[in-house]
Amino acid sequence: MKTGNITLRLKSFFSTAITLLSHLPTPHRVVLGCASLILLVSLTVSDNSSAVAVAPGQFRSNLAIDLQESDAPDAAEGIANSSAPLKDPDPEISYVVQKGDTLSTIFDFLHISQPTLYKLMEADLNVLALDTIQPGHQLGFNFDSEGALAQFIFRSGLTYKVVFDRGEKGDFEYEEFIEKGGYRREIISGTVEGDLPRSMKRAGARIAEAYQVTSLLKERMNFRSHLRAGDRFELAVSRQYVNDEYTGNSIIEGFVYDGVIRKQSAFLFDGSYFDADGESLEKAFQRIPLQRKYRISSSFNPKRKHPVTGLIRPHNGTDFSVPIGTPVLAAGDGVVSRVIKHRYAGLYIEIQHNQKYKTRYLHLSKAYVRKGQKVSRGQKIAASGNSGRSTGAHLHYELRVHDRPVNAMTAPIPVVQTIASKKRNLFKQQVAELKSQMAEQLALAKKQ
Ligand SMILES: [Zn+2]
Repeated sequence: MKTGNITLRLKSFFSTAITLLSHLPTPHRVVLGCASLILLVSLTVSDNSSAVAVAPGQFRSNLAIDLQESDAPDAAEGIANSSAPLKDPDPEISYVVQKGDTLSTIFDFLHISQPTLYKLMEADLNVLALDTIQPGHQLGFNFDSEGALAQFIFRSGLTYKVVFDRGEKGDFEYEEFIEKGGYRREIISGTVEGDLPRSMKRAGARIAEAYQVTSLLKERMNFRSHLRAGDRFELAVSRQYVNDEYTGNSIIEGFVYDGVIRKQSAFLFDGSYFDADGESLEKAFQRIPLQRKYRISSSFNPKRKHPVTGLIRPHNGTDFSVPIGTPVLAAGDGVVSRVIKHRYAGLYIEIQHNQKYKTRYLHLSKAYVRKGQKVSRGQKIAASGNSGRSTGAHLHYELRVHDRPVNAMTAPIPVVQTIASKKRNLFKQQVAELKSQMAEQLALAKKQ
């Protein structure tokens, strides 16, 4: 009889608990006393709650349901029906890991043999879930008619579960369950008082969500000098829930900052973030430092014959055939490291983008920036020209990676994410939808 064996196990569990109680210092007695109390309560009261409801460090048995099964069949069915995918019938013994626990101490406490634990760890080799048990993880134990461990359930958070089932030969097989959960969009609006993360938190955002937002906009905004008390912000965030409980996963869908000094926005589209105008927020390079494509009159070529001298001279850049006065744009964010008039290169600008990348723009007619100036991607830095040794009006553009010239047209660089023109309307629709939801939220907040 199954029930009888479990009762035996529980009897031994109680005697262990009582023995331990008499030997342990007071704080532990209190905890174990609670554990025993919970067990007693659940033995006498039919308990409909799931394994999740067990407090850390407390064992709970669902034996009461077994004993009363014939009395209340409807209730038992009710439990089964209301169970979500990750919530199976309560295991015979449930336990929530608490600080200081190891699998060994927990298994010892339940009189489960060490060889059984080793078999379990063997099965865990391909999952590696059990070597990192942490406070809050939930464990479930089911036993066979001989009282041996037949099933072990490991659950971390609301979305992850591994079930280990013992096979005929005593080895365990495992199955992983990952709950996708549903995402719900929430709109949060508020005003700045103090720093942005704390202002967002006060308005109902989670601090991790707030930090995600500041990291998204860090290239566009200075979160000290651009903030003013009373500035408004709206956040659209999708949060993951399983059985109405937040799993800890959030996706920032949109953020609008409406400040006295700065107005900024960020919208998720196709896996990347853009401002409301569809400009990428991700730090990247433009492939071409011009407003549109022009004919390439001479490509990057390490073995080129120089068109004027006829000598073999590598051509370390790409020449674009552009009329004098064409706007030249910074290929990426950076600091101007040179503005020089050179005998052959003519007037040229060099930008240091970070440790890795430098770009150079040669034969210019006018420079709009000074050495040491900060520039951002797409910023107009010069007008093209025909200065220095040049065979005609053109822009010579060079990209250097760790100070080595590379072909700027083909080199693997962080290229700007742009929204394809056929997806542009979809993006605009999405932004409009989020903005109208934000406006609704704002109107609601003003009424209150
Ligand atoms: Zn050139």
